[in-house]
Amino acid sequence: MDTKHYTIPVFIPELACPFQCIFCNQRKISGHLKVPSPEEVKDIIGKYLETIPTRKRVVEIGFFGGNFTGIPQAEQEAYLKVAIPYLEQGKIQGIRLSTRPDYISVTVLKLLKKYKVNTIELGAQSMHDEVLQRSSRGHTVQDTITASGLIRKFNFRLGLQMMIGLPGDSLELAMDTATQIVELRADNTRIYPTLVIKETKLEELYHNKKYKPLPLDDAVFWSKEVFKIFEKGRVKVIRMGLHPSEGLITGKELVAGPFHKSFRELAMTELWWEELKQLTNNKYKSIRITVHPKQLNFAVGYSAKNKKRLLEHYNTVVYQTDVELEGRDFYADNY
Ligand code: SF4
Repeated sequence: MDTKHYTIPVFIPELACPFQCIFCNQRKISGHLKVPSPEEVKDIIGKYLETIPTRKRVVEIGFFGGNFTGIPQAEQEAYLKVAIPYLEQGKIQGIRLSTRPDYISVTVLKLLKKYKVNTIELGAQSMHDEVLQRSSRGHTVQDTITASGLIRKFNFRLGLQMMIGLPGDSLELAMDTATQIVELRADNTRIYPTLVIKETKLEELYHNKKYKPLPLDDAVFWSKEVFKIFEKGRVKVIRMGLHPSEGLITGKELVAGPFHKSFRELAMTELWWEELKQLTNNKYKSIRITVHPKQLNFAVGYSAKNKKRLLEHYNTVVYQTDVELEGRDFYADNY
């Protein structure tokens, strides 16, 4: 059995976020958000730990919610102090957090080192200043470069999250953002397609026809192209698309945009089709495709899309698995 990774998500909204990123409604609804007390965080962790298997696991506590290092230092310390005993008792193996590129400094990193944080994720969003400006991010590309360098210098693991489809973004710019994230030697990334959320500046732009969200098919295509760059650059993609239960997104919050509950599966389906479409030039009537068990669902495709595509060329399409295969390697035989 493979070791499984678990992250216990602890959402710490920053109630006094001074920024107004056009895609974020945190500021508007912050009055309804509850910031967990350190005691409550302990409960969250305790309850979560009870639900996951005790063997063959690597568990991290993740402080998410935008800008952890933007909250007052005493509060950061109070939260981190809750996590430390779990680390010392071996109940968890790491602490990660997400923050903004312009909220990283030597002082901040020294504090996080003291509390044994191992991974810092930055919301880079784009590596193009015009896109950042048009999104009112309030930081520059240089901030991300400087912060990434410092994070690496202090030997943290580095996560650089990106968004696709922000105002001014294009497939070329998104691919370049991914290339720059690889060059900054990020360990991992998350790819978030831009969604139009209620009560955001982006909603206003959308209604005034000044912003057009990416159609779902385009967002899937862009994500696939960007994924390939990360894969080649050995940057682990830990998420593609917004998790339905993550953050503030519920059906009611969404105005428009490429939201799909199985976004990653959609992108992986297309990635696999790039491999499998070569099989459509075949004179045989039946085909058997062997893939790694972890890739099976993607190779078959979301709603069996790839299997159906192949069935346009064959009478029978069968999949089987082989643990010896790596990544998207596969073999196909006719029978
Ligand atoms: S995305 Fe983060 S920094 Fe921007 S407004 Fe929302 S909470 Fe603040």
